[in-house]
Amino acid sequence: MKHSTLIIILTLNLLSINISNASTLPDLGASDLKDYNKQTETALGRAFSTALYQHYDLVKDPVILSYIRRIGNKIASETGHSRHFSFHVINNSEINAFAGPNGIIGINTGLINAAKSEDEIASVIAHEIAHVTQRHLSRTYEYQNATSVTSIATLIAAILIGTQDPSAGLATYLGAQGLSIQHQLKNSRIHESEADYFGIKYLQDAGYNPEAMANFFDRLSKSAQIYEFKPPEILQTHPVTASRMARAKERAFQVQTEKKPFKTKTLRLIQIRLVKLEGTRPDNYQNISLTPSEKCYENNLQARYNDTSPLKPNLNCLETAISNHPTQRLYKIQKANLLSFTAPKKSFTEYKYLQAIYPSDFSIPYFYATALNRDNKKNEAIQVLQNITPSFHYQFLLYSKLARFYSDKREKDKVYYYDALANYNIGNWKKSQYLINQAKRLTKDKNTKFYTQLIRIQSELNDNVIKIQKNNEK
Ligand SMILES: [Zn+2]
Repeated sequence: MKHSTLIIILTLNLLSINISNASTLPDLGASDLKDYNKQTETALGRAFSTALYQHYDLVKDPVILSYIRRIGNKIASETGHSRHFSFHVINNSEINAFAGPNGIIGINTGLINAAKSEDEIASVIAHEIAHVTQRHLSRTYEYQNATSVTSIATLIAAILIGTQDPSAGLATYLGAQGLSIQHQLKNSRIHESEADYFGIKYLQDAGYNPEAMANFFDRLSKSAQIYEFKPPEILQTHPVTASRMARAKERAFQVQTEKKPFKTKTLRLIQIRLVKLEGTRPDNYQNISLTPSEKCYENNLQARYNDTSPLKPNLNCLETAISNHPTQRLYKIQKANLLSFTAPKKSFTEYKYLQAIYPSDFSIPYFYATALNRDNKKNEAIQVLQNITPSFHYQFLLYSKLARFYSDKREKDKVYYYDALANYNIGNWKKSQYLINQAKRLTKDKNTKFYTQLIRIQSELNDNVIKIQKNNEK
C-alpha cells in the first residue's frame, strides 16, 4: 500500500503507530475518499459509543435523558441535515460539552446545573451540533495512520471528556499519534466562529432565544473572573474573547425575529432531579429559592414509602402543582410514580393515559413497567416494554431493563439475549456475539419464534463483524 494513499487503517487488534507527515496528507476534496471516510466515521462512532458506556458514568435516568434528547432533536431537526445525532449526559461536575465522532453529542451534568434556562443548554447543544454539520470533526481524523479504531476512540473520549490528563496518560501511551489527535481535537478559531454562526441560527429556528449563547458564555467567564477559580473546561476550549461575544450578540440580533422569553421551568425540575437522584452538587443550589410546586417535586423525589420514613409522599401538593402547571409533564409523571407505591392500580391507569398523550416519552413506559414488575405482574411488565418501539437512542435502557426482568424470572436464555441486544445497540459487537452464543446454547426449544430471532441477530452480527474485518484489509 502506498503511504500517500493510506488514510486510516481500521485494525482492531493491531496497535502500530505511524506518524503522518504533513506533506503526505490526502487531498480532502477527492471524491473517492467520501465513502471511505463515512465508513471510518461510523466505525469510530461505534467504538466511541462503546467507550462512553464502558468507561464513563452516564446518566441513565429516563426523565433527564428524555429532556436533553428533546432539546437535541429539536435543534438537529432544524439543521437541514439528515445525519445521525445522539445525545448523552455524563455525570461530571465540570461545565463542559463535546461533539464526538459520528454525531455523538455529550453534555455534562455540570453544564446542566450551571445553566439558568433551557435556552442556554440549547445554545451549547446547537454549537456542538454545528461542529458536526460543518464537519469540523470528520476532517480531523482523516490524517491518522494505522492504529486501532478502539484505541483512537478511547483516546478521543478521554480527551473530550477530560477525565484523564491526556498529556500524561493515554496520549503518551500512543506517542506522537496521541498528541496529534489531542492537537486536532482543539477546534481552531475559525471552526469556533463557524459553530457560533450556525449554532445561533439553529437556536432561533428551534424556537429558542438566540441571545442565550452570548449570555451563558459571558456569565461563565465573568463568574470565573470574580471568584478566581480555574475557568470551566468549556471556556478553555471555547475562550470568551470580546470579539467573539460581540459577534455572537450581533448574530443573535440578525436572526431574531421577535423577543422570546427564556424557558426555565422544566430545567429547574431537571436540576432538582440531578441533585436528588444523581447526587450532583451545583455550587449555588442552596441559594436557589424553590416555588411551592418545585419544593413539592423535590420532597416527593426523596420521599420513602414506608411507615418509618420521616419524609412522606405528598399527593395533595402534586395535584396542586399539576393544576397550576397543566402543561408540565414532569409533575404528572411524578404523580403516577407516587401512586405506583400507594395505589398501584390507579397508577397503571395514569401511566396508560400519559403514554397516550406523550407517546414518544420513553420515561413513561419505563416507569410503568417498573411499577408492574414491583407489583409482581412480571409478564405484563415485559409486555409493556416489548410493545413500544423506542427510537435507537433508548434501546440500551430498554434491553437492559428487559434483561433484568427476565433475570427475576430466572429465564437465562432471555437474559443473555436482551443483554446481547443492549450491547449491540452501543456498538459492543464482540460482547454481543458472545452473549448471543450463550443464549443459543441455553435455549432448549429450537422451534420457537425466539430461537429464529436469535439466529437472525447472530447472522446480522457476524455479517457486521466480517464487514469490519474486510475494511481492515483494504
Ligand atoms: Zn466549539
